[in-house]
Amino acid sequence: AKNGGRGQFRFYAADLKNEEQERENLLDDLRIALEADQLRLEYQPVVSIKSGAVVCLEALMRWEHPERGEVSPSSFIPVAEESDLINNLGEWALRTACETAAEWPNSVRIAVNVSAVQFANPGLPAVVANALAHSGLAPDRLELELTESIFVGDSIETEQMFANLKKLGVRLALDDFGTGYSSLSYLRSAPFDKIKVDKSFVESCTQKDKNSAKIIAAIVGLSSALNMETTVEGVEAFDQLEVVKSKGAKLVQGFIYSRPLLREEVLERIKQGDFV
Ligand code: C2E
Ligand code: CA
Ligand code: CA
Ligand code: CA
Repeated sequence: AKNGGRGQFRFYAADLKNEEQERENLLDDLRIALEADQLRLEYQPVVSIKSGAVVCLEALMRWEHPERGEVSPSSFIPVAEESDLINNLGEWALRTACETAAEWPNSVRIAVNVSAVQFANPGLPAVVANALAHSGLAPDRLELELTESIFVGDSIETEQMFANLKKLGVRLALDDFGTGYSSLSYLRSAPFDKIKVDKSFVESCTQKDKNSAKIIAAIVGLSSALNMETTVEGVEAFDQLEVVKSKGAKLVQGFIYSRPLLREEVLERIKQGDFV
């Protein structure tokens, strides 16, 4: 048993080493990807249930690795966040998204995900300002999606960053609301314009034995009381849409309306008049 135990430990240690190596490789490849144009953004519509109009599109990063094929952002973003590279990826995303959105009708916003690591970087407001200036996009057409993980840092610095971003005139959204260590105190003073209800609530909202539908209703009510908009994420099926709608939600993002689209597909749909 002793030997087996040691053997197991060695095996485990070897695994950890492989994992570390794997992350290093991914990071190296990602650095190359940024230089070699292997990254692109796709844009997923956020739709008004009532009018069917597209009010916003969320930019989602995509990586076509030359050997591995498509790598999911859920696997490469966390790796990038462990190094400085997330700042470069984030800057690229902001610039690309703003340039793309500048070609859309003025009624349509662009939402860009901003990592907590970027949020902790004092250079972020300048990066955002540059992306706006370079593209000519009106600041109120840019929405930055932040998660609760931004609140782990120093609270004075967090407040300062909020103030500096708001000064630019951009909108702020609280992403993945209801997951992680949600605290209502985050909403007390943070200047969010929008709350995005996490898709995990939608997944189970049609199950009568779950509280998900009631929680969606409560979040919609809460954000409306705070003069914030709500987007409900991850709506895939008609019965989910019915529930979400009955709970007062106005804006929905999910496969039921559209998967994330290529830049060209967005332009095509604008031409067809799909966005109004
Ligand atoms: P997120 O910000 O919560 O983005 C929404 C995710 O839900 C996207 O996954 C989207 O494709 C997916 N989704 C949309 N509608 C549906 C639906 O109806 N059903 C289901 N099951 N899924 C739906 P994606 O594109 O794989 O991105 C995963 C995560 O990676 C994002 O979650 C975000 O946290 C991160 N991410 C993506 N792009 C960026 C980026 O440019 N910067 C940063 N920092 N993070 C990014
Ligand atoms: Ca490392
Ligand atoms: Ca998001
Ligand atoms: Ca989300």
